[in-house]
Amino acid sequence: CAEIALQHSKEQGRNNICFFSPAQHEAVLSRYRIAGLLHQALENNEFFMVYQPQIDVATGELIGAEALIRWYSPQLGQVSPEVFIPVAEDAGLIEAIGYWALEQSIKEAAGWGRKGLRFKLSVNFSARQFQRGEVANRLLALLHEYQLPTALFVVELTETCFMQCAEATERELVRMRAQGVRIAIDDFGTGYSSLSYIRNMSLDMIKIDRSFISQIDGAGTGGRLVQAMIDMSHAMKLEVVAEGVESAEDLDVLKQLGCDQAQGYHIARPMPASDLEGWAFSYKAERAECRIDLP
Ligand code: C2E
Ligand code: MG
Ligand code: MG
Ligand code: MG
Repeated sequence: CAEIALQHSKEQGRNNICFFSPAQHEAVLSRYRIAGLLHQALENNEFFMVYQPQIDVATGELIGAEALIRWYSPQLGQVSPEVFIPVAEDAGLIEAIGYWALEQSIKEAAGWGRKGLRFKLSVNFSARQFQRGEVANRLLALLHEYQLPTALFVVELTETCFMQCAEATERELVRMRAQGVRIAIDDFGTGYSSLSYIRNMSLDMIKIDRSFISQIDGAGTGGRLVQAMIDMSHAMKLEVVAEGVESAEDLDVLKQLGCDQAQGYHIARPMPASDLEGWAFSYKAERAECRIDLP
């Protein structure tokens, strides 16, 4: 409930924590209630995907988009994935929801691909999706069905996911990578993975958690810490993506630190596929104009 109250208050604006009365408390939320509502959410079409653009830090070029699931529940309103994904995992619903998210985003990416927009699609996966040992086959079948090139697909997994059932996960990742799919470790720095571990995993990219990015400006240790993460990743031949880039200054610092890619509110907020297409075309057009304007 605290999670929900926090999410609710976030949507009302910063620092506006509100407390539910006992009656509301009773009526509104428990994980149990969320789980109950999640059961029908798929059938009722209550989920949709949004996409957040990712750019090349050095050139500014649009190079990808991360798919993020959204749930609009008629009973609860919009519920954050940070709240409902863990519930779905515990309730055994994450496989169904995860595959829906996967197919929907591949379908939408194929749609923008047909309009001439070619950039990577990153999709978040839960550890549970790797347990049955069929995720690679299902992913490759979907990419084939919608004719999305495997080289344009990125699997995002958190550190915890890598650590849980490591062998099964590794087998699936090897299968995916053999076909050109790329693997990113998400929220890097917030879990417990060791360097030696990362070195041995099938991995292509590291996404530095936004809690580190929010501290890169100024004279503190924040910048040096991110610098160390970038250098370490590059030493392991891994590409680095910065998440949660909220200002031009952040992006500037990341450029100086040699970060490869970035996403965040400063570049664009997550948006539905139809908006992303428009955004991508005007972003490209603006950049082309800038280049022409250069002396
Ligand atoms: P994530 O994969 O680390 O996604 C990044 C989160 O940061 C997203 O939150 C995004 O909206 C938010 N974000 C992006 N730029 C900024 C910024 O500049 N500032 C701030 N403060 N936040 C920013 P979102 O969409 O609420 O997703 C939360 C988490 O839920 C994701 O974290 C991911 O772990 C999980 N998730 C989302 N969609 C899926 C999905 O389809 N499947 C699974 N398994 N997990 C998902
Ligand atoms: Mg992610
Ligand atoms: Mg992340
Ligand atoms: Mg996260």
